[in-house]
Amino acid sequence: MATGNINVTAENIFPIIKKFLYSDHEIFLRELISNATDATLKLKHLSTLGEAKGDIGEPIIEIKLDKEAKEIRIIDQGIGMDAEEVEKYINQVAFSGAEEFVEKYKDKVPDSGIIGHFGLGFYSAFMVAERVEIFTKSFKEDSKAVRWECDGSPQYTLEETDRTERGTEIVLHIAEDSEEFLDEGKIRGLLTKYNKFMPIPIKFGTKEINDPNHTPKTTKDKDGKDTTEPQKKITIDDIINNPNPAWTKQPSELEDEDYKNFYRELYPMQFEEPLFNIHLNVDYPFNLTGILYFPKISKNIDPQKDRIQLYQNQVFVTDNVEGIVPDFLQMLRGVIDSPDIPLNVSRSYLQADGAVKKISSYITRKVADKLNSLFKNDRKAFEEKWEDIKIIIEYGMLSEEKFFEKADKFALYPTVDNEYFIWDELIEKIKENQTDKDDKTVVLYASDVKAQHSYIQDAKDKGYKVLLLDSPIVSHLIQKLETSKENISFVRVDGDHIDNLIKKEDTKISKLSEEEQASLKTLLETNIPKETYTIQLEAMDSNANPFIITQPEFMRRMKEMQATGGGGMMGMGNFPDMYNLVVNTNSELVGEILNTKTSKKQERLIKQTFDLAKLSQNLLHGEELTSFIKRSFDMIK
Ligand code: ADP
Repeated sequence: MATGNINVTAENIFPIIKKFLYSDHEIFLRELISNATDATLKLKHLSTLGEAKGDIGEPIIEIKLDKEAKEIRIIDQGIGMDAEEVEKYINQVAFSGAEEFVEKYKDKVPDSGIIGHFGLGFYSAFMVAERVEIFTKSFKEDSKAVRWECDGSPQYTLEETDRTERGTEIVLHIAEDSEEFLDEGKIRGLLTKYNKFMPIPIKFGTKEINDPNHTPKTTKDKDGKDTTEPQKKITIDDIINNPNPAWTKQPSELEDEDYKNFYRELYPMQFEEPLFNIHLNVDYPFNLTGILYFPKISKNIDPQKDRIQLYQNQVFVTDNVEGIVPDFLQMLRGVIDSPDIPLNVSRSYLQADGAVKKISSYITRKVADKLNSLFKNDRKAFEEKWEDIKIIIEYGMLSEEKFFEKADKFALYPTVDNEYFIWDELIEKIKENQTDKDDKTVVLYASDVKAQHSYIQDAKDKGYKVLLLDSPIVSHLIQKLETSKENISFVRVDGDHIDNLIKKEDTKISKLSEEEQASLKTLLETNIPKETYTIQLEAMDSNANPFIITQPEFMRRMKEMQATGGGGMMGMGNFPDMYNLVVNTNSELVGEILNTKTSKKQERLIKQTFDLAKLSQNLLHGEELTSFIKRSFDMIK
């Protein structure tokens, strides 16, 4: 038996490991299982090279829990180590690795992000154990098994032992303050969190299942009644992981159903099916595999739940992929697996990292390509999905220039009549009819088919197309489209009278003379609150409504953008509600208002007409509405 000192400079590394990442103590299990996995994969590799002799069988990893003895065992059938290797890898390599890691992070407040997710390795065992033993036997012929032990002081013990099986068994003697890890449910939870898709089968206890070779017989008893014998049960290893998850396979090996099954495997509590998936698979200039799913985005989606999971070589790392996956795709679900993402770094470093930037733009490109091919291959199906995916696409168009450019091929602009156009088709359709006297093509849109019904109708009567754009960020998107496309302006249908929205000729002739118009304006201004309403006389068709309330496009859009967090508009205060009252000077009723002799009757007419205009914009409420109804009843009595 030999004893020795691990490293004299490291007197205080163990207390630091113990304290390290208080909330992250649980990662010890992932680290040790990762080592066991590596050792097993190495053995498999050596076996295919012919360097490991004989049949290696189907190696598994086993986790054993002994509550009484306060032990957790991690057992593998991998390459194992001989005394020399323990000396080298555990006492030196692993130790200096841990030391370096602790050195780097001892003063840092760990964020809940990626820091600390990787790198501590074997010595993370001391986060939960007061004493650790290693029993190990190398795969090499004639090698002797050894036992290593360390109690968290720099001293260790190394001696021969009589182990006969190939591989390594780590025994953790759990410290008093970590006894929560002796709970079976706790360990099972950790195994499913971190190791659900690791490449070597992981056994945790056994379970009973129905014997697949036994079909219970049904016989008739003496009274002629059917009796069925009990189903035979068998006990099998409880393997907690799927070593061959879908993302590690080639897309050509997978059917639609396989993708759906994998989605359910990833999110067992998610009952809604995904809309479609994107299989990521690249090995140059970086390595990345994965499957992303577009979920149905419902109003009550919880962005914190069922997020994209990041893996490294099938080991779960985090479900916070900020900085790696572009913001607009954070609402997607699925898995990405890449060994090329630096993990023990801060978020800001991560975002500046060249490889990570490439990964992020690769993902963006793949998503755009997939959307494009879905649109091309089955346009109708794509249109049907639009409602569920538009928010992600519109957000992407706003936040990623590259995506914006590509989106012209698949971003849809639906009309109030359920026609769907891509950008070029839309412009082609409306260019002729909806171009105004200044050569600007005007895109009319509505945000609410019911509330804006009469305005939509007026526009349609003129043969105009009206889009239905109702997502919360639409005002930002419109702004972006107006600045990047030439000679285009967007106006909401209720922004003004339709003839003003698309002005074809300069003026229409008013039936009222200049003086009449002046006195009409004065008359109206005394009866209508001017803080909120700006009166605007217009000579329109005589059968157009006499009063129309509109909200200028600019004001409304500013308000909306402010509400959804428009850049640069903070601190400008709240925009007040401001409307235009468009008065049709060619309307018969307006003429009558002007010519009514008694001012009392004149006031009543103005009030009634104004209230009707408000009513049509859903602006008449409370006391005003009550007195309007009463007045209307009185009038028809
Ligand atoms: P890392 O795994 O990052 O190299 P660790 O501290 O986890 O660092 O382990 C150090 C070394 O110890 C490993 O590289 C490996 O050579 C050896 N080792 C650890 N666990 C095992 C194991 N279960 N079987 C064989 N070798 C192991």
